[in-house]
Amino acid sequence: NKDVLVIGAGGVASVTLHKMAMNRDLFPGRIAVASRTLSKCEAIAESVKARTGQVIETYQIDADDVGATVALIETVKPALLVNLALPYQDLALMEACLRTGVHYLDTANYEPPEEAKFEYSHQWKLHERFEKAGLMATLGVGFDPGVTSIFAAYVRKHYLSGIRLIDILDCNGGDHGHPFATNFNPEINIREVTAEVKHWENGGWVTSPAMSTMVEFDFDQVGPKNMYLMYHEELESLVTHFPEIERARFWMTFGDAYIQHVTVLQNVGMTGIEPVEYEGHQIIPLQFLKAVLPNPGDLGERTKGKTNIGDIITGPAKDGSGEKTYYINNICDHEECFREVGSQAVSYTTGVPAMIGAALMLDGTWSGAGVFNTEQLDPDRFMEMLNAHGLPWKITELSAPVDF
Ligand code: NDP
Repeated sequence: NKDVLVIGAGGVASVTLHKMAMNRDLFPGRIAVASRTLSKCEAIAESVKARTGQVIETYQIDADDVGATVALIETVKPALLVNLALPYQDLALMEACLRTGVHYLDTANYEPPEEAKFEYSHQWKLHERFEKAGLMATLGVGFDPGVTSIFAAYVRKHYLSGIRLIDILDCNGGDHGHPFATNFNPEINIREVTAEVKHWENGGWVTSPAMSTMVEFDFDQVGPKNMYLMYHEELESLVTHFPEIERARFWMTFGDAYIQHVTVLQNVGMTGIEPVEYEGHQIIPLQFLKAVLPNPGDLGERTKGKTNIGDIITGPAKDGSGEKTYYINNICDHEECFREVGSQAVSYTTGVPAMIGAALMLDGTWSGAGVFNTEQLDPDRFMEMLNAHGLPWKITELSAPVDF
């Protein structure tokens, strides 16, 4: 069975579904998509048909409802469920997979809706159940997390005998022309950037206030950008699976206008996730804010520029020639992505890895029973497929470890 069921019909799902349809050799079975709003599934199916001539099936589902998802899985009978809905749905979808004997893949770790706290603990707890059921769940197969951890595994497999320092640098040099918009789901994006910062240093987490550490970095093909220290979920899995890591940090670029808008919105309470009473209704300020901001899915058409995401990794060289530092990264062009699949680079850089991970699970290159993060799996085939499917990467040796 090579049938796949994708849950969610947002920016990322659209890219993954287009790429699956463009690679029928990898996805020879049925391709189905189900999401909360059926019309969004149908719009993707129409675009896929127009661009590739392939037919994908569409269904409506509330993925928070485990019983409904079980019934949907029993109808579609996929080998693999690809979760491209929101992090809130992860646990319900994993439960539905366990009940129906279906493998699972996602791109973002579970987060309880009432608390902006990214932690793998909730999903790692399901390891034994997946193991006993002989099923595989692969977590975080987007770009970051996802490719950034596979880059680390690749450098550790071929260049270094261990990782001492890792800095993940996520630069979006794209310009969409709006005064303020987020380039993926605004609710998830704003929860992430307003959360307390954590990085790993000498065996423990070091915390600092959101957006309090800034460094300018000159990104290849983008130019100098301010990047901010942030917490990001792959830090937790990387220091767990590569316990030799002394320091792990994550940096993301933001322009001054973005920072000013988030600061004001935060100061006036619009980024809050506690319900407030408004004219007899309970509303969550951040969800209301999402409703008035530009839809990230519509930014593709107007976004110009490039993303540049990668890892700078320092450790002892495999061949015993002393400590070495490597920079491994991908550069992706917003306009080229839009021409190919009708989406901007942030959705593209997430949706393509999800497609590749799904293909590797279907053909058995990635196999195992239990819950896995991408750095635990063999990186080689995935790295070849990044080059073949639109996300080419390069690795360069730097003369010294990062000095920031
Ligand atoms: P969108 O908001 O564009 O899409 C989310 C989709 O999920 C929408 O179609 C939405 O439906 C659907 N959905 C939400 N709740 C439910 C539900 N209860 N039942 C069924 N469907 C539901 O998000 P993106 O496409 O930008 O992101 C998708 C995922 O990818 C997110 O988890 C995000 O965190 C992750 N991501 C990961 C990255 C990485 O590099 N690892 C980078 C960027 C994103 P509706 O349209 O009806 O609201």
